[in-house]
Amino acid sequence: MVCVRFAPSPTGHLHIGGARTALFNYLYARHNNGKFILRIEDTDRSRSTEEYIDAIIEGMRWLKLEWDEGPFRQTDRFDIYRDYANKLVNEGKAYYCYCSPDELEQRRKEALAQGKSPKYDGRCRNKERVQGVEGSRVQAAVRFKMPQEGQTVVDDLIKGTVSFENDQLDDLIILRSDGTPTYNFTVVVDDVDMKITHVIRGDDHLNNTPKQIHIYKALGYEIPMFAHLPMILGSDKTRLSKRHGATSVMAYKEMGYLYDALVNYLVRLGWAYGDQEVFSREELIKYFSLENVGKSSAVFNPEKLLWLNSQYIIKSNPEEIGELVMPFLENAGIIQKGQDIDRKWLSKAIKTLQERAKTLIELANSLRYYIAEDIEYDEKAKTKFLNEKSKALLIELKDNLASISDFSAPELEKAFKLIIEKHNVKLGALAQPVRVAITGGTESPGIFEVLEVLGKEKTLKRLEKAIKTIDNFSM
Ligand code: GLU
Repeated sequence: MVCVRFAPSPTGHLHIGGARTALFNYLYARHNNGKFILRIEDTDRSRSTEEYIDAIIEGMRWLKLEWDEGPFRQTDRFDIYRDYANKLVNEGKAYYCYCSPDELEQRRKEALAQGKSPKYDGRCRNKERVQGVEGSRVQAAVRFKMPQEGQTVVDDLIKGTVSFENDQLDDLIILRSDGTPTYNFTVVVDDVDMKITHVIRGDDHLNNTPKQIHIYKALGYEIPMFAHLPMILGSDKTRLSKRHGATSVMAYKEMGYLYDALVNYLVRLGWAYGDQEVFSREELIKYFSLENVGKSSAVFNPEKLLWLNSQYIIKSNPEEIGELVMPFLENAGIIQKGQDIDRKWLSKAIKTLQERAKTLIELANSLRYYIAEDIEYDEKAKTKFLNEKSKALLIELKDNLASISDFSAPELEKAFKLIIEKHNVKLGALAQPVRVAITGGTESPGIFEVLEVLGKEKTLKRLEKAIKTIDNFSM
């Protein structure tokens, strides 16, 4: 059975690159009816925090990247790593190293000054074990005896065949002198222990792969398949970072992106399926394959993400969007905390705006004129459209609308028509002042729909206010 994992180090929030790795693992597992494991690589205790673990889990949950097992934490598994390390020492495949950090640093500097490789010189490789190492004062790290001859070939499912010279590989430390294990070791032990069949991760780990292959071999385990994902770059072709805009996944939630849209965007960072751009989750699971992941780096394009988000807002059902927009209405102060709104009415209002709002923030702001008791006028719009010229039309409209019992878009249209025909003016001469009176600005969905959603009472109140404003203005 296919078994994959996402193994973040909790040293930051879930970011775009990490989320893409998680997504590809998730899709690969689902496509192959396999298993997806979440493993938290928190062995670096100085940089890992509980807060980041929670943040990563929150991000995964928001994107609905459900895992089947875990989250496992490496800090809960130290005994397992020690057992494996001891096994390697006993078999002569790893050794105790007594060199102090200062000595190592000194030698490293000397080697560099002489133009030599700064890697460990192997001087403890054949040392007798100093008595009383375990639990005693003698501090020792455990180093892995890295083969130094020949080459290691990585047959990567994305990168193809990549060869590494073994004499470039260091006798890396697998247990520090304080007994804590290190990345290249824990990752192999866990991938073995969790029966991982495919390691799908960022290509920043490609250089670690030959080292890990040797550890698999030393432990006597089968080597999994590797798939290293191409890097994600910013628009200036440098590695994606905060300079290019928000990189944390949850920041996109806060900016009013739908999780589906972000997932759809992330999958296209490296993967393609013909020319198709918009995919449902089912389609992604059905079509996903590693063969269609490109070799070259992907470029993060915020405009495209925004476009996709607008597409998802358009095609989502208004009830769903209604749920999602509620916290944004609260944040914008359009509704009170905990205040509820008639959801059926909200859906109707949202339907008029779906084509126009690119984010939930934009949508919430547009909903303001439907929900708020009162509106404020945009100064320019007010000066241009609320004036003596429009006053008579507005008064007439208000009187006519007051007598309409069926306050529906078609009836409203008739009422508008009557007035413009009578005065021989264009629709805009009436519709724009009304738009300003109702929404405060000059842009909105079709005015009849807006009035229908707003309802008779609020419509009349706002027309009245506009008429008064003109009076005050011209006094
Ligand atoms: N913990 C590593 C990281 O966050 C990933 C290790 C792996 O996938 O092998 O970069």
